[in-house]
Amino acid sequence: MFHLVVTACLASDPSVCTERLLPTPEPSTEAACTEGAKARIAEWAALHPNLTTGDWNCRPTEDLPRLEMTDVAPGVFVHIGRSEPVSIANGGDIANPGVIIGDTVAVIDPGGSRAIGEGLYAAIRDLTDKPISHVILTHMHPDHIYGAEVFAEAGAQIIGHRNLPSGLERRAEVWAESIPRQAGALAMIGTQAIPPDRTVAAQEEIALGGATLLLHPVATAHTDNDLTVYHLESGTLFTGDLVFAGLTPSVDGSLTGWLDWLELPPDPVPQRIVPGHGPVSLGWTEGTAPLRTYLVALADQTRAAIRAGEAMSTAATHVGTDQRGNWQGFEEINARNAIAAFKELEWE
Ligand SMILES: [Zn+2]
Repeated sequence: MFHLVVTACLASDPSVCTERLLPTPEPSTEAACTEGAKARIAEWAALHPNLTTGDWNCRPTEDLPRLEMTDVAPGVFVHIGRSEPVSIANGGDIANPGVIIGDTVAVIDPGGSRAIGEGLYAAIRDLTDKPISHVILTHMHPDHIYGAEVFAEAGAQIIGHRNLPSGLERRAEVWAESIPRQAGALAMIGTQAIPPDRTVAAQEEIALGGATLLLHPVATAHTDNDLTVYHLESGTLFTGDLVFAGLTPSVDGSLTGWLDWLELPPDPVPQRIVPGHGPVSLGWTEGTAPLRTYLVALADQTRAAIRAGEAMSTAATHVGTDQRGNWQGFEEINARNAIAAFKELEWE
């Protein structure tokens, strides 16, 4: 199988260049790749007006950079991102994209940049040449969704919670500025958020053939657009950021809603969970206990601060801080969480 790779530079700074992979729905021979290259590059460049394109070549799968994948169950693979905040060093590779292979392939969270999406695509092509039919976005955060466009180009349908489009609309502009600052302009070349092709408002089943996925949209918790994916055959639940392990959880939806979700184990109780960040696989109880402890501390201490008549700015200096030893990237995220918790709970 051969893949078209083109040099792309920022139009605003021609010294910032990298190679971009342009995928196709159908596996390509070297001759077909070469023949169609110029037209495909022109089409792709028109959709990425902030870039210029240069040299290109057609490359076999084994010569592509690819993400390292961990085998968690038959036909189920996960790339384990680094359990830390986005930085130049990690280029946004901090979440846990998943891959489920049946007669077709589904991706759960295509990663935090176009480059990571391409690395995931190359890793899938190393495993199988089956069509990639579905990409499921567990929620709106950039470290989970920015790789989606690669798979849209590869012919996959992009699916998200019914609140995902409005969430993206609210935040896309801010993230387009802030994420390249955090991850570096080079790491983010060609990255753009795309809306889902289709949204999910109630539980639904997707049959890949030999693999069945149950999609479950959740009430406001980590965000207002959390969607879990359960692989029926292996009992694997992809929780997205409804479960954090290692990296400090961020409250961007509802603290009380999130605690409510944690109160009720999913039905059926999963054999294993794949959290949005941190090690895989985890058991439900073991995997959710540290998160629950943190969120309960955040809620209890915020309520105590409100009862004591503290101002939000004062509460934010101490609420949750006794939890810091357990989490990566704690200070900044916890301070934001303390403010979010105060705003949510002050009207209780
Ligand atoms: Zn998130």
